[in-house]
Amino acid sequence: MPTISACEVTDCAYNANRQCHTMAVTVGGPETCARCDTYLHASPKGGVSDMTGGVGACKVKDCSFNSSFECSAPSIKVSQHQGHADCTTFKLR
Ligand code: SF4
Ligand SMILES: [Zn+2]
Repeated sequence: MPTISACEVTDCAYNANRQCHTMAVTVGGPETCARCDTYLHASPKGGVSDMTGGVGACKVKDCSFNSSFECSAPSIKVSQHQGHADCTTFKLR
């Protein structure tokens, strides 16, 4: 599973020290951006502290790393974009 090497979305419930701490995220959705669908604004913080998140599934079929709706990148990064969380490793085919 591709790991999330860094996530800059520090207000997400799964983020601690710019690392993602859920088991796996889903990327994509109906929007034009490659959004992290797992982003959650909630308190207190959640997730598993000794775990680094991975990409469980990705629906962004226009990305060159996407194969059969799965991510084949070695790792991804996630950042803020206009108030939401995006996969910045996205590369248009
Ligand atoms: S790199 Fe591409 S395939 Fe992988 S999670 Fe990001 S948008 Fe999806
Ligand atoms: Zn975006």
